[in-house]
Amino acid sequence: MIITDVLCPFCGDLCDDIIVEVEGNKIIEVKEACETGVSKMMGHERIAAPMIRENGKLRETTYEEAITKAAEILTNSLRPLMYGWGSTTCEADKKGIELAEEIGAIIDNTTSVCHAPSVLAIQNVGLPSCTLGQIKNRADLIIYWGSNQAEAHPRHMSKYTSFTKGFFTKEGRKGKHVIVFDVRKTTTAEVADDFVQIIPGDDYRVLSALRVILAGAGDVVPSSVGGVPKEKLIEIVDRMKSSRFGVLFFGMGLTQSRGKPYNVANAISLVRELNAHTKFAVMPMRGHFNVTGFNQVCAWSTGFAFAVDFARGKPWYNPGETSTVDVLNRGECDSALIVASDPAAHFPRKSVEHLAKIPLIQIDPCPNLTTELADIVLPAAIAGIEVEGTAYRMDGVPLRLRKLIEPVHLSDEEILSRILSKVREIRGD
Ligand code: SF4
Repeated sequence: MIITDVLCPFCGDLCDDIIVEVEGNKIIEVKEACETGVSKMMGHERIAAPMIRENGKLRETTYEEAITKAAEILTNSLRPLMYGWGSTTCEADKKGIELAEEIGAIIDNTTSVCHAPSVLAIQNVGLPSCTLGQIKNRADLIIYWGSNQAEAHPRHMSKYTSFTKGFFTKEGRKGKHVIVFDVRKTTTAEVADDFVQIIPGDDYRVLSALRVILAGAGDVVPSSVGGVPKEKLIEIVDRMKSSRFGVLFFGMGLTQSRGKPYNVANAISLVRELNAHTKFAVMPMRGHFNVTGFNQVCAWSTGFAFAVDFARGKPWYNPGETSTVDVLNRGECDSALIVASDPAAHFPRKSVEHLAKIPLIQIDPCPNLTTELADIVLPAAIAGIEVEGTAYRMDGVPLRLRKLIEPVHLSDEEILSRILSKVREIRGD
C-alpha cells in the first residue's frame, strides 16, 4: 500500500510530502524524506516489553505491573519531575499536564535546554513572524543566524528557503540572497552567498551594531564589531532594507551563546525595526518535531510555555528555578518521569548523577542511555508512524500526524492516561 502526504515525525520542519510504502504492517520504503527522516521512519531497535529494575537489572513485566509501580512512585513523591515531550503528540502532552497537576509535579520540556531564551524574549518583545509557506512564496533575503540547518533540518533550504521556487519567487535560488551568521563555516554557510563570521559570544554586539546602523547612527559604530568589519555591516543593512521580503531564522548558536534571551530579543527588535522599511519576519529553528506543540499546549492550559511547577496546587513558572537542569542540579526532585526524550545522553553530568539516584520512569519507543538508569521502562508506540495526533511545525502551524502501521505498544497518551487513573485510584479520588 502506498500512503502519500505523510508527515515526517523527526524535526521541526514536519515535512508533509513524504510517500511511504507499507507491506504487511511494515514500512518497506520511504520517499522524499531526507536521510534522517528515512532512518526514523524505517525503524530502529525497539523496547520489547515493559520492564522493572530489580537487584540492579531490568526484568520484563506487564504494562499493568509497570504502570502500577510508576503510579506508586509518583504518588509517594514529594517533588516529582516530568520531562521530555518534544517527540510525541499534543494529545499526550495534554494528558501529561493533567497528570502533573494531579500529583503537583514540575513539568518541563526540551525547550528548557534549547529555545527557552526564545520563549523569554518573545514574552518581552513579541514575534513578528509568518508561516514557512509565506517564506517559500515571498522571501528574497534569507538569513540564518547560529543555525546549521543543512545538518539539523536537512530539507529546510530545499523545501522552504534557498533552493525552492514559490509564487513570487519563481527564479528560485537565482532570485534569493542567503546570509549565514555563525562562529564557524558550517555546511549551511558553504551554500550561502555571504558568510559572516562572528567572534564566539559577540552576537549581541553584532546585532546591536546592525540596529544602530539601521537607525542612521552608524557614525558611533567602531571599525569592527564582533570580528565583522563595519563596511560589511553597512552592506548587510542596505541589503536588508532593499529586500522585498526578508526572514531571519535563528538557532541554538544564538539562544545558547553569551547573552541568551537578550540575543534573541535583540534579533527580534532588529526585525521589528526593519519592518519600517520592508517586510521582514523572524523565526526560531525548532528542533524536535513537536517541541513547539508542547509549548502551545502548556501555554493554553497553564498560562506558561515550559518549566511549570504545580507544587502550589496551581501553575507557577520561574525558569532558572523550575527548569529541569536547575531542579536536578539542586538535587531537589525525588522522582522523575521522562517521556520521549533522552536526558542521560544530553544533560550535564551533575543532572544525570541525580537522575541516577532517584526512582526514574521512562516512556519511550526505543532504548537509549536513559533506559540504562530507568527503574520502570514503558515502551510506547511511535507518534506519527504508529499513532496519529497533532503536532506543531516550527512556524506554529498545527498539522495532523498519520498512523501508517498498527502499533505493537500502547501510545504515550494511553500510558499516561492509565498512570493518571492509577494515581487517582491510589489516592482514593
Ligand atoms: S527535514 Fe526534518 S521533517 Fe523533513 S524529512 Fe528531514 S528530518 Fe523529516
